[in-house]
Amino acid sequence: MTDSSTSAVPAAAKIIPRSEHNVSRANISNAALKVLYRLKDGGYQAFLVGGGVRDLLLGLRPKDFDIATDARPEEVRALFSNSRLIGRRFRLAHVRFGREIIEVATFRGAGDGESTDGEHVIHESGRILKDNAWGSIEEDARRRDFTANALYYNVSDFSIWDFAGGVADISDGWLRLIGDPEQRYREDPVRMLRAARLSAKLGLRIHPDSAAPIASLAELIDGVPSARLFDEFLKMFQTGYARESCRKLLELGLFEHMFPEPARLVVRDDQVAYRELIDAALTNTDERVAQERSVTPMFLFAVLLWGPVQQRMAALLEDESMSPAQALALAAAQASDHQFARIALPRRFSLPMREVLQLQPRFLDRRPRRVRALLQHKRFRAAYDLMLLLVQVGQVEQEVADFWTAAQEGEDAPPPAEEETRPRRRRRRVGRRPRSTPPAA
Ligand code: ATP
Ligand code: MG
Repeated sequence: MTDSSTSAVPAAAKIIPRSEHNVSRANISNAALKVLYRLKDGGYQAFLVGGGVRDLLLGLRPKDFDIATDARPEEVRALFSNSRLIGRRFRLAHVRFGREIIEVATFRGAGDGESTDGEHVIHESGRILKDNAWGSIEEDARRRDFTANALYYNVSDFSIWDFAGGVADISDGWLRLIGDPEQRYREDPVRMLRAARLSAKLGLRIHPDSAAPIASLAELIDGVPSARLFDEFLKMFQTGYARESCRKLLELGLFEHMFPEPARLVVRDDQVAYRELIDAALTNTDERVAQERSVTPMFLFAVLLWGPVQQRMAALLEDESMSPAQALALAAAQASDHQFARIALPRRFSLPMREVLQLQPRFLDRRPRRVRALLQHKRFRAAYDLMLLLVQVGQVEQEVADFWTAAQEGEDAPPPAEEETRPRRRRRRVGRRPRSTPPAA
């Protein structure tokens, strides 16, 4: 336990008193405040940290509130009956209040100081494999990624402790890596993706020193576990800034390391419709998030793989022994395998995604029994949404969309696309309303 009065402030921190910043408790969730106060009353240091402080300074509504403390995970666990410990690579406590989860992390060090225990393991490539060495708040700040993320809001006097010049960088519009950029990217290549994502989301420019090494280090993304890339995909593409994030990924030469086959196609002169399709889907996804409507990664993957699937299918059809349906199924399977080796899309999304691609030719079949069967198919809704986008980019006739929009009026509304990532609210069936709303993404 440490005294959290200002006398204990590390020399390196610049302290911004409450009167000189705009972070107000009114904009911090009650759950986060409860955790902060209980830690403080328990005799620990307690700070709101990271994206929460940064977003409040920028006048944005934080997605979540993370807390940093000098209490060890077991001590946090003992303080909150509604908490549990999670993570191996990065052990921390989750404190749950209804649907809201507050992450409480113990200050981490680099694993080389005297004050540390726990474990810190580095791969020979420089990549951090385990990051559980506890440290001081100063060390904790130094191992965060961007200066704007190393800001600590102190619940005992509402000041902000700024260890890396993050407040000045935010007000100057810079997203800047802490420390030596090349070393920081080598430690954790996902920081390159985070640079793209956060600059897109926050409207901050990546500082030239932080941007420079990305071109030569981008290939380190290939060594990141595919499950972690899926987590990063969700943050990048399902939280309201997909279009801008994608633009940044392309600009920084990172897109090709997340989506190798789509990346080879999008640059081709004969792929205008594919580019437009991706753009329309990203725009649409962002609009849906802004309206707090549900989105699913299944849909964006279907869109991204649409180009490679068309290519592979055409090649497979040159072998005349194969029917178009067989070629499509095989093309979808091959393109999926290729993509999911890079970004691990869980099966609950990947199987429906393939169905959505494989259902596309069935929109051209107007035989009444086939029409009824498709309308009742559990992927109809998502497949229909993809078909509408294909109409929008001139790959399918408008008349096809009109037919299927009208066809639904005579039917029970098909079930909504499943496996949504947010919000998790239960949805009511929508009765017989004609479906002319924009596509789900
Ligand atoms: P968002 O608004 O999307 O949540 P965020 O910056 O809060 O953005 P989180 O993934 O929630 O992102 O991470 C919380 C904090 O943890 C960050 O602000 C940063 O200080 C630190 N952090 C996260 N990922 C890394 C990383 N790869 N390397 C160093 N620090 C990181
Ligand atoms: Mg966050």
